[in-house]
Amino acid sequence: MLKTSKGNKSLSIEVSGTAQGLGFRPFVYNLAVENNLTGFVRNTGLGAQIAVCGKESSLKKFVAGLKKSGFDAKYTIKKTIQTKCASFKIIKSKNTEITSDFPQDLALCDDCRKELFSSSDRRHSYPFINCIKCGPRFSIIKKLPYDRKNTVMDKFVLCGDCLQEYNNSSNRRFHAQPNACGKCGPQLSLFNADKKLLSRRDEALCDAVRLLKKGKILAVKSIGGYHLCCDASNLNTVKKLRKRKQRPYKPFAVMADIKTAEKLCFINKYEKAELLSKSAPIALLKKKNNMAMLDTLAPDNSSLGIMLPYAPLHHLLTAKIPLLVMTSGNKSDEPISATEKEAFLNLREIADYFLTHNRDIENRLDDSIVKFLPGCKEKIIIRRSRGYVPVPVKTGISADMFAAGGDLKNNFCFVRKGNAYLSQYAGDLEENANLKFYDESVNKMKSFLDINPKMAVCDAHPAYHSRAYAEKHYKKVNFALHHYAHMASVIAEHNLSGNVLGFIFDGNGYGEDGNIWGGEFILYSRKKFKRAGHLDYFQLPGGDICTKEVWRCAVSLLYKYDLLENMPEHLKKYDYKTIIKMAENNINSPLSSSIGRVFDAVAALTGIKNVSTFEAEAAVALESTIAAHKTPSCYKYDMESGIINISKLLKGILNDIEKGVLAGVISSKFHNTVVDIVVKTAMKYKIKKIALGGGVFQNIYLLNAVRKKLLSLGFDIYYNKQIPLNDGGICLGQAYMSNLFMKNK
Ligand code: ZN
Ligand code: ZN
Ligand code: FE
Repeated sequence: MLKTSKGNKSLSIEVSGTAQGLGFRPFVYNLAVENNLTGFVRNTGLGAQIAVCGKESSLKKFVAGLKKSGFDAKYTIKKTIQTKCASFKIIKSKNTEITSDFPQDLALCDDCRKELFSSSDRRHSYPFINCIKCGPRFSIIKKLPYDRKNTVMDKFVLCGDCLQEYNNSSNRRFHAQPNACGKCGPQLSLFNADKKLLSRRDEALCDAVRLLKKGKILAVKSIGGYHLCCDASNLNTVKKLRKRKQRPYKPFAVMADIKTAEKLCFINKYEKAELLSKSAPIALLKKKNNMAMLDTLAPDNSSLGIMLPYAPLHHLLTAKIPLLVMTSGNKSDEPISATEKEAFLNLREIADYFLTHNRDIENRLDDSIVKFLPGCKEKIIIRRSRGYVPVPVKTGISADMFAAGGDLKNNFCFVRKGNAYLSQYAGDLEENANLKFYDESVNKMKSFLDINPKMAVCDAHPAYHSRAYAEKHYKKVNFALHHYAHMASVIAEHNLSGNVLGFIFDGNGYGEDGNIWGGEFILYSRKKFKRAGHLDYFQLPGGDICTKEVWRCAVSLLYKYDLLENMPEHLKKYDYKTIIKMAENNINSPLSSSIGRVFDAVAALTGIKNVSTFEAEAAVALESTIAAHKTPSCYKYDMESGIINISKLLKGILNDIEKGVLAGVISSKFHNTVVDIVVKTAMKYKIKKIALGGGVFQNIYLLNAVRKKLLSLGFDIYYNKQIPLNDGGICLGQAYMSNLFMKNK
């Protein structure tokens, strides 16, 4: 070892934050070598540790370069005694307590894409090309630190060429953990539905393209799981897929390059940037025209979900077939299939062929879904999974804990040192398969984060599976009321203090009085939540079935407000008399203040949708009719001591129906009325901070109108932006409330 020369200084730098898996160590290596410094860098549980030795001026340059690098990390710099190293090295990871953050799966980068399509490159058309800037991350990791041996790439031995890249500091695959090539890495295989191997490697890709062009449905193994894939421009195939998936109306997401996408939908610069981002989510975009094809893909919906190809395999496929249906490869509402075994079992009646590969999926993830408010960079996350997990939300929550989330659209979270790590989307826990997936993800997340908190928090609903799960696995469990948790998630995400007034509108959640809440005004003051007002209760004859048979909501509301005489003709084909009897005799007719169900009722009254075949179908269809029929007017309603009475609203709607007013106009007036309810209530309370939450606010027309109006009146508006504002986000609110309970004790 060389002696360190006189006059040299040494620094020790602790790095915390998202430093692993983004090429941090190679970056540090190059920066150190450029500045003639010796020392080392290594991953630690906390993030990374750097030791550098050299001239003072060089050290300064090094530190400046580090801070300018753009890595989202925190640097703690200390002077130390001289580090005796002859050169600069990347050394083995230190296994200590693991608290470092870890990036999400990253879409293919431009450099890799160029190589993928360059016939002279050794990875030409290799579907698993990646580098330090792109490729799978969370989907392949078993535990931290992020070293190849802790990922599913462990089983592939790097070939000479790949190893050289991996070890060469000037190469962009220097320490790229999933590095691979056609010689040494994962490979494609094509099977038929009888699990017979048809072809492999390039041949499998060619065959897959040929089959897709012929109108076949393929199960394609992607990053987070299997997709069901077919040519989206072939309407017969799309219809066949709908039939086989038993999904008559639910929209299918499509995959296309940006040029093709722009032909189908209006895409502004914010939406474009999001589509092209490393997270590469599905963005719900406004359809350009009513081409038959767009209606088959997303019926009765003004938006279409589009994502860009993000895995190299997707690029290879879309290069040949520009528009693909890419919908989650699952059985109805079950988790996305991730292994070959699951795919063959779950998808054999849907897919004609299976395009698989031998890189395992450690953490399964659905595609994430986002939607933008018109003309601005404001976006909401409808589903938070691939491309976002496991990036934490930074909160002021001091205690480590498990927050179980809700039973619908579940995401759970672990809080560790103030960071809330939300899981991927686990779906509805009523499904047994989803509950199993939930358990699997909880355990994986726990070991991934190396955390074992002693405390849990869950929804107060006595029948929620998530609650039973928390109570089974934890001795100390706090309970959070559903709608307070919605509001708390907004407060937590935006770190709000002082008084806040919340409008929490959703489909249903368990309320303090045992009724089904969902149209709530909530006051947050002195760190306590209080229901300040709500939509007047009405009955849901049959309970949960009202979310599907939405005509029941209409009948029940007409019954409550004594308007049955004016029931529109088209509802009389249903057995409405039984529904009235149920309500009258209070048979299985729980009380609800849900605004979501009022949207359903209006969809049924106007004849837009009487039945929903998937969640919120009626409400989405109702919103979609506004575009062509916008009007500024609204209906009347009454509000007394915080209770909203919608008798006049319903009368107004029935009058309009009788007069033959178009459904779109009625929808527009109804939406405006809901906006008015929020605005008038906000003005009454004179609290500057307004929180909006609950799935109803995924209605972009509503959210945008409320936001604009309140902003113009000088209010500050907050809603979830990093996490879903539907039930997927309540885990964060639960954790926040649990933390408050403890502080208030
Ligand atoms: Zn790359
Ligand atoms: Zn190789
Ligand atoms: Fe909710």
